[in-house]
Amino acid sequence: MSLLVIGSVAFDAIETPFGKTEKIIGGAATYISLSSSYFTKEINLVAVVGDDFPKSKIDFMQKRGIDTTGLQVKAGEKSFFWSGRYHNDMNSRDTLITELNVLENFDPIIPEAYQNCEFLMLGNLTPSTQKLVIDRLKERPRLVVMDTMNFWMEIAMDDLRQTLKMVDILTINDEEARQLSGEYSLVKAARKILTMGPSFLIIKKGEHGALLFHQDEVFFAPALPLEDVFDPTGAGDTFAGGFIGYLASTEDVSFDNMKRAIIYGSVMASFCVEKFGTERLENLSQEEIQARAKEFMKLSQVEMLLV
Ligand code: AMP
Repeated sequence: MSLLVIGSVAFDAIETPFGKTEKIIGGAATYISLSSSYFTKEINLVAVVGDDFPKSKIDFMQKRGIDTTGLQVKAGEKSFFWSGRYHNDMNSRDTLITELNVLENFDPIIPEAYQNCEFLMLGNLTPSTQKLVIDRLKERPRLVVMDTMNFWMEIAMDDLRQTLKMVDILTINDEEARQLSGEYSLVKAARKILTMGPSFLIIKKGEHGALLFHQDEVFFAPALPLEDVFDPTGAGDTFAGGFIGYLASTEDVSFDNMKRAIIYGSVMASFCVEKFGTERLENLSQEEIQARAKEFMKLSQVEMLLV
């Protein structure tokens, strides 16, 4: 099942209570496609970088089975750059720098071979660009998942609302759900957001797990209690990559299968945070992934008789 991924491919500079990085490779689409490459093979990437982006990293993506024909490299231009600093709790962060650079005039050209994709993952990007990608697909994919962030709510809310109307699933974090809906209660927020377009909503709560809402149903998946969290950057995108990668590989978009997909998304996110940047996602084994999925199952399984 082919999966089309769009989003930022970027340089990040990250500060956490455990250390600081120089410019390293990041970007929503980078995390999404690396994460989904552990589940499904036909991954097509549409993104843009400047000619400052290392070719070795593009080669590595190709080695992981990611088709980069749709990755535009702009001569003489700079890649998107984001810098953030995490607070001591590692659950919240401040954005220090957002330099759009090549993203400012990004025209998402979809190679002919990418048409007819069945799964579309709209990673974090200008909402109008996300919409343009849907418009440019000759056939609507079977499932469209969209991620976004507070930055776009602040500067492009109208476009965001337009794009929201065209997607099946929205993934955002708890703070963003509150900002988008104007409701503090996440249950009320979910109810409101589900009237804005998507029929499924995933609210990510960092180390407190993730919630899946659909009609009147709710599913909750915990996050794995980890001894060491070094860098949460990209955890949300890695989650989304595992989630949609699993759905694409199983070709099943039922609510029940989405519950399994959320567990695999959480498994992948739990690896992501163990090292800075994409490092931990670069060479995982299937054994490690399955062992962690088992830990997740054990974490909340209980047999009991109701009294
Ligand atoms: P996450 O930690 O899952 O929110 O994702 C962090 C990644 O999102 C980083 O690698 C950044 O490069 C990327 N990112 C941050 N801000 C933006 C933005 N405004 N648009 C697109 N990507 C962004």
